[in-house]
Amino acid sequence: MLKQVVFALALLLTFGIFAWTMRKIFQNFSYTKKLPLDNIPKRIKETLVVAIGQTKIFRHPVMGLLHALVFWGFIVILIGSIEMVIDGLSGLERSLGILGPVYDFLIATGDVFAAIILISILVFLFRRLFLKVKRFYGTEMKAVSKKDANLALGFILLLMISLLGMNTFYVLDAAANGDEIVGYYPVSQYLSRFFAGVSPSGIHFLHEFNWWLHILLIFAFANVLPYSKHFHVFMSVPNVFVSRISPLGYASNMESITKEVKMMLDPQAAYGATAEAPPKFGVSDADDVSWVNYMNALSCTECGRCTAVCPANITGKLLSPRKIMMDLRARMKEKGVGLRAEGATFNDGKSLIGNYISEEELWACTLCNACAQECPVNIHQPSLILDMRRYLVLEKSAAPAGLNTAFTNIENNGAPWQFSPQDRMKWAEELYMNVTN
Ligand code: SF4
Ligand code: SF4
Repeated sequence: MLKQVVFALALLLTFGIFAWTMRKIFQNFSYTKKLPLDNIPKRIKETLVVAIGQTKIFRHPVMGLLHALVFWGFIVILIGSIEMVIDGLSGLERSLGILGPVYDFLIATGDVFAAIILISILVFLFRRLFLKVKRFYGTEMKAVSKKDANLALGFILLLMISLLGMNTFYVLDAAANGDEIVGYYPVSQYLSRFFAGVSPSGIHFLHEFNWWLHILLIFAFANVLPYSKHFHVFMSVPNVFVSRISPLGYASNMESITKEVKMMLDPQAAYGATAEAPPKFGVSDADDVSWVNYMNALSCTECGRCTAVCPANITGKLLSPRKIMMDLRARMKEKGVGLRAEGATFNDGKSLIGNYISEEELWACTLCNACAQECPVNIHQPSLILDMRRYLVLEKSAAPAGLNTAFTNIENNGAPWQFSPQDRMKWAEELYMNVTN
């Protein structure tokens, strides 16, 4: 009974802290712009292919396979974690054993996946600590980002060690007590041979120790994740579902501009008698972005696959699409404190453009969409970059000189070139003369 009470308190504390963190994060969504979700069947297909199937990650076959195995393994192991919660609250042991052969299959799969994840995490840690993989570096990858990644990998490593430990000593404990072993444990049964000399009381203690270690690590991990880049563990699947499904190069129309034009042509038809003040054009700060942009930022794994293919970054420009997403997340975290306290009018005198992202970075983008193509969680960085440029052009008239010349020409000549519209057919005059002669 004491075990159940302690477990229930730990669970309550976990849910309490998690709900408190989530409330802060999801309140931030209320300060972002609305965006409708259409084409649900296509979104479901995209989620199955990209998120569950992990298809984009396979562009790097070996590391991609390891990452996909970790993801699929987590899904299976999650079922075991749910069983632990039921056991912890009810005082039962292996309560889902009533599922019979299905349970045997799930437990066996989880046991094998635990070993695979353990090996994969060791490979990931080795790469991060000893190999200089270029995409793990960059101006945006501060020491805290590296510590964060290593801490999360350390957590997962301990989770898998404790899971295998729990299963191994469960098998030994059941055998020592003459009880039936519920479930099938291919890896743990093999490991149990190495602990055959441990006394029955020692085996029981080690089973309990690993059980508690595993579940408390899960509780702690769940509350560390929202403050870490590994928040994508929760966010990546829903992010793929809400991600942009239009063709990569498609540039959305600006609804605010359409309204402005309509108002110029016919103010009554566009807005009726009570026309609103013109909205802000484009994005200059975190609360100008759409909720999908913010979801994108929360889902960024900081993997750097986008920056690794960015032609601007490769040719030495300041731009890094990964930094753009990390900056949005950091700015919303900073401004969210004030927004939640003082409401939408809060102004701390800072903004995303200027304090986090420079104009030079924004204008370095070729809008090639290579970053969005590569992103394993379907983040669309170019649309955010484009919206920030729109702000610079429409609100600040702060386009680079070359573009300003083109804009002036479009305004005066109806084309980006410096020729009068009257001269447009001059090139054909000689042709015409030749034909008539
Ligand atoms: S769209 Fe822009 S940020 Fe993305 S890869 Fe191309 S140049 Fe880089
Ligand atoms: S935006 Fe996508 S590709 Fe780029 S670092 Fe984040 S998750 Fe990786």
